[in-house]
Amino acid sequence: MRRAVCPGSFDPITNGHLDIVVRASKLFDEVVVAVSINKNKATLFTIDERMELIREAVRNHPMSPSNVVVDASHGLVVDFCRARGIQSIVKGLRAVSDFDYELQMAQMNNSLAGVETLFMSTNPQYAFLSSSLVKEVARYGGDVSHLVPDVVLKQLRERAVERAVE
Ligand code: ADP
Repeated sequence: MRRAVCPGSFDPITNGHLDIVVRASKLFDEVVVAVSINKNKATLFTIDERMELIREAVRNHPMSPSNVVVDASHGLVVDFCRARGIQSIVKGLRAVSDFDYELQMAQMNNSLAGVETLFMSTNPQYAFLSSSLVKEVARYGGDVSHLVPDVVLKQLRERAVERAVE
């Protein structure tokens, strides 16, 4: 069985992430979305919320792939891969500026555990998209409805309302 990991914080999942996960699901028998738990990094959504948003976004996608699973990841992605016998990591490349860091990371991961990293070119529609930018725009009331799955949009709006009431 050919399996791949799509790692990240997914705080929250965007249409850019979702596009990569769904495209990877056509190339592999199973795609495991590894959601990082980093206690030193403040996140808007908890690990359980981030995982549930990914599951719902995948379920609601027009392709609704059944071979995508979502799991929490502590520590190194290569350890996550090793524990599950997974050989490949799939990452989206948005721009040349992503490349230096991603190449270094891919080489490190290969040297640590022989895991291969495959880069997928981001859909140009989503090349400028990051979770942090989405959160920032949503925080100030900007329209991000074309950038995130509906379930995420709903959550971002609820958080904005909660903040306005506080
Ligand atoms: P990190 O945990 O490194 O901050 P994210 O959780 O934001 O990263 O994203 C995880 C991975 O998803 C990235 O390393 C990248 O491969 C991919 N990704 C992020 N944003 C996009 C996008 N707009 N389009 C395609 N892929 C993306």
